[in-house]
Amino acid sequence: MVRRHMPSLAITLLLVAAGGHARLVAQAAVTGSLPNVVVLATGGTIAGAAATDVQAGYTSGQVGVQQLLAAVPQAKKLATLRGEQISNIGSQDMNDEVWIKLATRVNELVAMPDVAGVVITHGTDTIEETAYFLNLVVKSRKPVVLTAAMRPSTALSADGPLNFYNAVAVAANKDAAGRGVLVVVNDWIHGASSLTKTSTTAVQTFLSPVSGLIGTVAYGEPEWYRGPVGKNTATSEFSVDKNTVLPRVDIIMAAENMDGALINAAAAAGAKGIVIAGVGNGNMTKPALDALAAQAKKGVVAVRSSRVATGQVGRNVEVDDDKMGFVASLGHNPQKARVLLRLALTKTTDPKTIQRYFDEY
Ligand code: ASP
Repeated sequence: MVRRHMPSLAITLLLVAAGGHARLVAQAAVTGSLPNVVVLATGGTIAGAAATDVQAGYTSGQVGVQQLLAAVPQAKKLATLRGEQISNIGSQDMNDEVWIKLATRVNELVAMPDVAGVVITHGTDTIEETAYFLNLVVKSRKPVVLTAAMRPSTALSADGPLNFYNAVAVAANKDAAGRGVLVVVNDWIHGASSLTKTSTTAVQTFLSPVSGLIGTVAYGEPEWYRGPVGKNTATSEFSVDKNTVLPRVDIIMAAENMDGALINAAAAAGAKGIVIAGVGNGNMTKPALDALAAQAKKGVVAVRSSRVATGQVGRNVEVDDDKMGFVASLGHNPQKARVLLRLALTKTTDPKTIQRYFDEY
């Protein structure tokens, strides 16, 4: 039962090595046309701007999709690009309205025979959640690739332009199909279920710490290592449409001397599910366990995850999940567990079925 894995703006445009996209360009020369890739912009630092090119302070979501496209003209040799603005927000403000709009639009686009793939520009703060959400609700094997940047578009050595270029290359690449929703940042191709943000400021912030990378991409040239972990996209049983209302699920972090007050407050605020970012292997104090079990008995679905950066939260290890009616998050960190639980709750409140979802997705 253990899950396997657990803008210019771009004032500084990076030079694209001549050989990097040779195969794609050659492929286009043979077929006579480039693949169509649609760029959906949501905001984030990749569209951020600062008053100078060497300062920490900046504002996310200042640059529109047309400026983003114009900042990386090299990408036009990889694919025929068109852009749409879904939102222009810092991803700390990501919300259900944008998620539903984004998922609905991605599903419309990937159903169009002439669309080869989709690139989504996003902030780094919550990209792992949006990617995992899309991984569960996009109904296609076509490449859907999120990208982001740690430095605003106006910064010295902005990382956005090359990340965008590489994301377009991956979305235009036939071998990206069937690998689930991907995230391309800093030359690495991550699976939506595996990546997590690990540094508040470093350009190399994203890791897939347990199951590793899906591949790498250097100047538009992907190299593939593996397929996705867990069911996803075309094999997912979850779906949303414009009328979907996602149930409330709160994340509560465990700590020394924890009581049940926040657990009870979450339920009182209307949470249908609670994810505990537990200590160690999804543990928490006895008073917290008792409060969680009492809420589980009343029908609130309780998932034990961990505040620890890597590793599994196993079922019935130090906590008797069977007796208490809990779900173990296995390889899902608290933020991914919350996404899966919200979608699971659109189908059932049965902890056994939800445990199966955590095994399989
Ligand atoms: N706060 C920004 C965001 O998530 C950070 C970034 O994009 O790097 O939109």
